[in-house]
Amino acid sequence: MERTVLHSDMNNFFASVECLSRPEIRFKPVIVCGKTEDRHGIVLAKNNVAKRLGVSTGEPIKQADKKCGGAVKINPDFDKYVLYSKIAGEIYNEYTDQVESFGIDECWLEISGGSKFGEAAANDIRRRIKKETGLTVSIGVSFTKTFAKLCSDLKKPDAVTSVRRSDFREKIWPLPCNALLGVGDVTNRKLNSLYIHTIGDLAQSQPSFLSSRLGKNGKQLWAYANGYDTSPISYFGESIPLKSISNGMTIGNDLYANEQIRAMVGILADGAAMKLRSQNAVCKTVGVNFRTTDLNYIQRQIRLDSYTDISSVITKAAYDIYKQSFPEPHIFRSLTVRLSDLVPKSRVYSQTDLFGFEENLTRAGQLDCAVDEIRNKFGTDSVIRGSALCLNCQNIGRKIP
Ligand SMILES: [Mg+2]
Repeated sequence: MERTVLHSDMNNFFASVECLSRPEIRFKPVIVCGKTEDRHGIVLAKNNVAKRLGVSTGEPIKQADKKCGGAVKINPDFDKYVLYSKIAGEIYNEYTDQVESFGIDECWLEISGGSKFGEAAANDIRRRIKKETGLTVSIGVSFTKTFAKLCSDLKKPDAVTSVRRSDFREKIWPLPCNALLGVGDVTNRKLNSLYIHTIGDLAQSQPSFLSSRLGKNGKQLWAYANGYDTSPISYFGESIPLKSISNGMTIGNDLYANEQIRAMVGILADGAAMKLRSQNAVCKTVGVNFRTTDLNYIQRQIRLDSYTDISSVITKAAYDIYKQSFPEPHIFRSLTVRLSDLVPKSRVYSQTDLFGFEENLTRAGQLDCAVDEIRNKFGTDSVIRGSALCLNCQNIGRKIP
């Protein structure tokens, strides 16, 4: 039996919620953005009026101001968005218990075997959300998650678009590669340089050629383009199995120099962050357990401002704990870095957009991905932090599980 997957995307979500609570601004350009006072923030969301004036999500406020100086600027009110997201979630839940969120305003629904055809159910949901919340959604209907997501982007706002197995080559293959989930700017440029411009080009490439150029991502994108995505949709509220991630080490030769401890903390934090990313999770609390030579335990932790899986952020937090806990040099028998308050990355996708989606973080994330890929291929100690070199620490690197 053919699968039926829906992907529902709330249109201009943050800006639409703001316009609902202040109807008088509906016909003005509206921009939701952080840090309005120093104009250093970025555009997190915009309504259609601002969109028509050329404003795009992620651009600096300064730049958006040039396009529509008179725009209404609003700081994000996350609690309010969560509330609307929950109401929509309850409606989705009446159709299936397999509802997997992808950020605060998007989710997949598995409705295979349901009593209604895909389009009929999608239109039902679309009308109900509009009636019960005042917000509009775009829904894609297809037989894989990737195609359903792509379809929800094709017609906006307040629309349903479907693609079946019988017509996906005709409807999806002519589209540019970056319409596909998983093809960002970097991958798109790489594909174009290989003369792969459309999803059809991608589908008809040799998977072995793609993986030689793009790593394991290459083969996955090829499968997506051919409609071979069989990834399941998780159940509503499903949580990740792990509660915390630890990375620790007993120290043979007692370390005491400040920079050696610092380096060790950095290596452990980096390894823990890598484990975290392999679980597709993010953390909000970073802790370090120190065991001193007299076998006393000292545990300290820091709660971060926002969820993260970025190595440099986690490492800095661990350094800070060390610095604050031991202003004077100290001798340790063992060190453990512990990450807790874990949630699936998909659930806080938009939350990180809101509170930390600065360009340097995106770059840091890309760097982490590249390092993970090299380490998976060539071993954990194929890439080590510069600060770790002071430890003469090839051996230490090798002990990291
Ligand atoms: Mg949206």
